[in-house]
Amino acid sequence: MSAVLPVYRRSDITIVRGEGVYLFADNGTRYLDFASGIAVNALGHCHPHVVAALKEQSEKLWHCSNMYQMPGLSGMASRLTAACFADKVFFCNSGGEAVEAGLKMLRRFHYVSGQPQKNRIITFEGGFHGRTLACISAGGNAIAREGFAPLLEGFDRVAFNDIEAVKTAIGHATAGILIEPIQGEGGVNEASHDFLRGLRELCDAHGLLLFFDEVQCGMGRTGALFAHQQSGVSPDICSTAKGIGNGFPLGACLTTDRVAAAMKPGTHGSTYGSNPLAMAVGNAVLDVMLQPGFFEHVSRMGAMLKAGLEALAAEFPQMISGVRGRGLMLGLKPAVPAMALVEKLRANQLLTSPAEGGVIRIVPPLTVQPEHVQEALAILRHTCKEGL
Ligand code: PLP
Repeated sequence: MSAVLPVYRRSDITIVRGEGVYLFADNGTRYLDFASGIAVNALGHCHPHVVAALKEQSEKLWHCSNMYQMPGLSGMASRLTAACFADKVFFCNSGGEAVEAGLKMLRRFHYVSGQPQKNRIITFEGGFHGRTLACISAGGNAIAREGFAPLLEGFDRVAFNDIEAVKTAIGHATAGILIEPIQGEGGVNEASHDFLRGLRELCDAHGLLLFFDEVQCGMGRTGALFAHQQSGVSPDICSTAKGIGNGFPLGACLTTDRVAAAMKPGTHGSTYGSNPLAMAVGNAVLDVMLQPGFFEHVSRMGAMLKAGLEALAAEFPQMISGVRGRGLMLGLKPAVPAMALVEKLRANQLLTSPAEGGVIRIVPPLTVQPEHVQEALAILRHTCKEGL
């Protein structure tokens, strides 16, 4: 009997090593990893530049607390903010914490502006923001909420991509809107560019803050540093995590000077947030990601993979009924039970990641090369041919 809390359905496979886009099990089996630890290993496993940065920092300083200036912190903050809408960033250790930080900033902005009654946040069906009480209260997944009452007050959930539903939900107590530009756990559902633009207009018209949760779709995943940059809409707050640490626990909440002005010493914090190990890793990830051509590579690989998946859907409609997503955040809608197909693909040494709505996420490392895309498509084709 395992001593581990049974909150995950784990397979029996023990992964002991990772290298680039491949994972290796203790029995020597090699897997092509198109799950990336649920969209985390943006640069693949054990990227040499990131490993070197972590090794070097691990021999100098691990932790000293936020009582002091932290090596790498101001550099990482200015590089990240210079590459997007933001002026300020708070570093933490996970996606859920980044969302929590953003929710606090959102409410406190209105409090400091003399409008504490503006404290409700519009969120979306199918949304996922993490597992803390605030995050499940904000999220659109009833199973994640069940049994945890009383939940946090102040969230009004509406249908995704439905601007009329958002308009109807706005009231005198509305403080802002929280949305994933592409829902990840919810099944790779893209918010349309028009919808995001509509949300920005509503926020501007009603004095609300727009909060994008890019924990999953950010950090290069869609072919831009942040997915929202492709729709030409800037938020007031943006959470990110996953790819930013490439597997090291690191999250970030970005915002503008206007919102950041509401946050003073004592209003928020994290013992481990912005620790030197995380900053060394984060800076090393940015070294690679911000190189010219990186995001174009993601778009190219994404287009190649999506075209291949669409061809498979056309060839095997009895197995795949649709393909969705953009960049390297893709989803397959199988015509067969999704988990059975995920398991079959795994038996054929291709790792993918199930999501809500019977969707299979295809989220390889962003460093994937054409030969890896072809290898994955060949495994998928062979699996579709075989059937379940
Ligand atoms: N927000 C989004 C969009 C996510 O996809 C996730 C995790 O999947 C989270 C927040 C929570 O991140 P974490 O599990 O690191 O707390």
